[in-house]
Amino acid sequence: MSTEFFNVADIFGENVFNDTVMQARLPKKVYKNLKKTIEEGKELDLETADVIAHEMKEWAIEKGATHYTHWFLPLTGVTAEKHDSFISAPLPSGKILMSFSGKELIKGEPDASSFPSGGLRATFEARGYTAWDCTSPAFVRQDAAGGTLCIPTAFCSYTGEALDQKTPLLRSMEAINVQALRLLRLFGNTTSRKVTPSVGPEQEYFLVDAEKFQQRKDLIYTGRTLFGAMPPKGQELDDHYFGTIRQRIAGFMRDVNTELWKVGVSAKTQHNEVAPAQHELAPIYAEANIAVDHNQIVMQTLKRVACQHGMKCLLHEKPFAGVNGSGKHNNWSITTDDGINMLDPGRTPHENTQFLLVLSCILKAVNKHADLLRESAADPGNDHRLGANEAPPAIISIFLGEQLEDVMEQLISTGEATHSLKGGKLQTGVTTLPDLSKDATDRNRTSPFAFTGNKFEFRMVGSRDSIANPNIVLNTIVAEAFADACEVLESADDFDMAVHDLIKKYMIENQRIVFNGNGYSEEWVKEAERRGLPNIKSMVEAIPSITTDKAVELFERFSVFTKAELESRAEIQYESYAKAINIEARTMIDMASKQIIPAVMGYTKTLADTILAVREAGADVSVQSGLLTEVTELLKSTKAALEKLIQATEEAAAKEEGPVQANYYHTDVFPAMEALRAPVDQLEMIVDKDVWPMPSYGDLIFEV
Ligand code: ADP
Ligand code: MG
Repeated sequence: MSTEFFNVADIFGENVFNDTVMQARLPKKVYKNLKKTIEEGKELDLETADVIAHEMKEWAIEKGATHYTHWFLPLTGVTAEKHDSFISAPLPSGKILMSFSGKELIKGEPDASSFPSGGLRATFEARGYTAWDCTSPAFVRQDAAGGTLCIPTAFCSYTGEALDQKTPLLRSMEAINVQALRLLRLFGNTTSRKVTPSVGPEQEYFLVDAEKFQQRKDLIYTGRTLFGAMPPKGQELDDHYFGTIRQRIAGFMRDVNTELWKVGVSAKTQHNEVAPAQHELAPIYAEANIAVDHNQIVMQTLKRVACQHGMKCLLHEKPFAGVNGSGKHNNWSITTDDGINMLDPGRTPHENTQFLLVLSCILKAVNKHADLLRESAADPGNDHRLGANEAPPAIISIFLGEQLEDVMEQLISTGEATHSLKGGKLQTGVTTLPDLSKDATDRNRTSPFAFTGNKFEFRMVGSRDSIANPNIVLNTIVAEAFADACEVLESADDFDMAVHDLIKKYMIENQRIVFNGNGYSEEWVKEAERRGLPNIKSMVEAIPSITTDKAVELFERFSVFTKAELESRAEIQYESYAKAINIEARTMIDMASKQIIPAVMGYTKTLADTILAVREAGADVSVQSGLLTEVTELLKSTKAALEKLIQATEEAAAKEEGPVQANYYHTDVFPAMEALRAPVDQLEMIVDKDVWPMPSYGDLIFEV
């Protein structure tokens, strides 16, 4: 750990090819052209690209870069990169030149046959293209590989279908831009030129000791523990949340922040989370596509720096049963280029017609497409959180808070909202403390989609997942609601009257999605069912929602996905679920047969030997024999459960790929895994710790 002190302002963004660098290094005309491309989406000509590429290379080399890579987000869920060095063919003198052309900057051509395409592309048509997304700045990453110039890119097939997350995300940003501007114009706004979704993701993660991690095959292969009994202490004391950050962790966080700041990621907030060994990092929000890229950088950096500190960073949604899992809160708002946050209600929301229309459109969007939002947060790891033992629930609902709910009720009941509840003063009862002004609304931690003052916080997203999908869905469904509203309002004779009626109509029609109570309670599950809200409990049940007629119509209308792209994505999802569970099942089989059963057999032998010896000495052996019987019984159950899991896994592998196979993994293999885990966890509690073949939960989460 370095203890060198520095000024954050000096290092922030030092490895980013940002606006300051471009302005300083690019000829005026080139800079202007590029800005046009970034701000107005104009196409970049090759001549300009050549100049930019040259300058980018010179700059990157000064930062120690030897290679460049098109950095993209294929549908594997992790970023992909192929590195090329800047060297060109050796000269007759034997020397080389470093080169990087505009063509190489703008377009890459990775052999894409091994990336998931969900049937969009046959393997023999391997051609895929990466295209520079100049709205997300290039940066130099410095790590063990030296310096690498990373160029954020989109990834498409030869025929133009999106094979990544960025392409549809950019398309969805385009959609909401157009529709939001249309809505603003109706309210007389003629000055805003662009509307962008802003996103701030809060990233949760666990840290464990690397040596202990290495002794657990489940962590190595699957990122979560597949066996493990709870230690005597869990998270019940809530003493970890916001607790003092231990020195080892503090040193890690410092290095993470330093790395992130250098590449322009505005790491802002850090704290201990609820579970032991769990932490959180949140950056300052940014434009959606940058936030998505930055979140990938955050995840990579957490992992890399953890290794340098002798730790492993677990991004899995549920690394440990019995303690909280990890999520990613996706804070989302829509902002104009001249700084108007369209989700800012102001002090008197009841008078803010534009805000009320935006809000009612969002209610409509989320109510209509709750299934899509739910699906956007589906991944195998998140099945352990959503709708399982822990929060948030799998039911989508919106928390508005007292103030807005009150305005909504006024509108619905009397057709007129005349006042907004005020926050008032918070009296502490201590004269030396200042009276704080209170927010008009308390927080609600149990809502999956909560209004938090001037933004919505979508809390369902899994910690390991990209935030691209949730934002694609949010942008597109809200664009649709805006478009529908504009269609009505643009043809209205009396705008004021029409907008008033529309807000009321949307609020009445979509009231069922609003819920301000405890989202974790049993009553809510029943109430939601009564309201007809979907409760989609698992990933395999969520996937079909992206190919319904409703979804196809939505995404095609705004050119975000074609039907073929949606179908391919569903296929990839089924496949990735099946693969994930298959790996988990096989890891369990391996651990149970090669580590756990042999260790327990060894223990029974020791017990048996003890019994013989004790009996010979003429003493009572009832305790020892009791234990031996108990262990033997559990060993028998373990063996039987193992056989069943082996059988289920074999049957699953033989099933037809796609929904059939994925569903079988969900309904048959997964329960068989749980059934194997149960006796093993019981064994762990009674078998001598010295013979247990892997570190326990206690070792992992209390001794980092
Ligand atoms: P919380 O109290 O919800 O845990 P945090 O400070 O941990 O809040 O994180 C809040 C996140 O929301 C930050 O990433 C912050 O930058 C982001 N955020 C704040 N305002 C907006 C906004 N208008 N749009 C999008 N994200 C925002
Ligand atoms: Mg937070």
